[in-house]
Amino acid sequence: MQSQTAMNTFVKETGGWVAAQLEACTRCGMCAEACHFYQGTGNPEYTPVWKVELLRRAYEQRFSPFGKLKVALGISKPITDEDLQHWSTIIYEACTVCNKCALVCPMGIDLGTLIHDVRAATAEAGVVPADLMAAVNKQVEEGSPLGVTDDVFESRLEFVQDEWEVDLPIDKQGAETLVVFSSIEIMKFPANLAAIARILNAAGENWTLSTKAREVVNFGFYEGSHEHTKLFLSRVFEGAKELGVKRIVVTECGHAYDAMRWTSYNLMEVPKGIEITHIVALMGDYVRTGRIKLKKGAYNNGTITFHDACKIQRKGGHIKEPREILGVLAPESFKEMTPNREEAVCCGGGGGVIAIKEADPIRYAAFQLKINQMTAVGAKTVAMSCSNCRLQFLDGIQHFKYDVKVRGLAEMVAEALEEE
Ligand code: SF4
Ligand code: SF4
Repeated sequence: MQSQTAMNTFVKETGGWVAAQLEACTRCGMCAEACHFYQGTGNPEYTPVWKVELLRRAYEQRFSPFGKLKVALGISKPITDEDLQHWSTIIYEACTVCNKCALVCPMGIDLGTLIHDVRAATAEAGVVPADLMAAVNKQVEEGSPLGVTDDVFESRLEFVQDEWEVDLPIDKQGAETLVVFSSIEIMKFPANLAAIARILNAAGENWTLSTKAREVVNFGFYEGSHEHTKLFLSRVFEGAKELGVKRIVVTECGHAYDAMRWTSYNLMEVPKGIEITHIVALMGDYVRTGRIKLKKGAYNNGTITFHDACKIQRKGGHIKEPREILGVLAPESFKEMTPNREEAVCCGGGGGVIAIKEADPIRYAAFQLKINQMTAVGAKTVAMSCSNCRLQFLDGIQHFKYDVKVRGLAEMVAEALEEE
């Protein structure tokens, strides 16, 4: 029975930390207004605290004496297969695991992590939206959710090298830095590969790509499956070990960065002596230390704003770097949306949501918040450092027929390199 499998997973996931988090909730409801899906739709089932309700119920029924009494009296209902199906739509379609809710919770409850625990149970029980699961299976079987097989990878690299006349080192033994792109960049934004290569080459970086670690996206992490998350992470780590690199640079993908940089250490043996960082951190460092020089004011024509990605800026803390870069590129035309930095509103497309067709209406409802923010500053261009956000912005502005240029920060930096 699916519900029994989920219940077993809930019990397994519920250690002292989870118990303390669940016990701490005062039901104040403050997290509701932090959630862009709740704000965009007004649906009370999209409040963060409701998303963890199954985990709370499982904890209460199995671990608290009062909960056991409620079960005995028939007041607390057992979790059913129907409950799982229902919550599956809520936690996958109406949650990007952006963790803004945790930021506002007065009790310091890490709701994003708890929601991820609920996903772990639904994944274990096999109750995952079909579109998302199809992408996971494709990544298991072909090595990529977007079909970046060995052959496709090779032909995409050839295309990028020919189109942008840029050198892309591959499987270079002795390189210090391994760069791993997301499949979205490889298939939909190939100019990003060229841009990042030009930046690294201009900085004199000793870097490489890897055929084994050819992409960093992790649909197992979206699914909540520890097994799949580990499998996809291990492909990257194996590639890094094989080449003997000292650093892995995750390019413009937020969830992949979270999976590699933090989640990996809680799931598996991560090879020692390898630093994991994000391309925005590296670009910030290059600009700060003068390893690359940018044309000052290259984007001073028309208001430009920056969208903070939840996993790169809020969780990753890379808040200063894009602002320092934009301070050079657009000192007169850069304007912040409100709220911004760690308090920024999620775009609504992360966490696997954009891959689920059924989620489209609420994904657009959530994106309306970004439209409002861009309108308030009169943005002509919006920059970002996550290609999943970029996909959501491109789709969102098309849906709303909204006129704004959507740019990846790395491409803007590459275009403004002084050397070229
Ligand atoms: S803000 Fe925190 S304490 Fe209040 S309902 Fe949400 S999770 Fe519970
Ligand atoms: S993690 Fe983000 S999307 Fe999920 S409930 Fe919290 S605020 Fe909403």
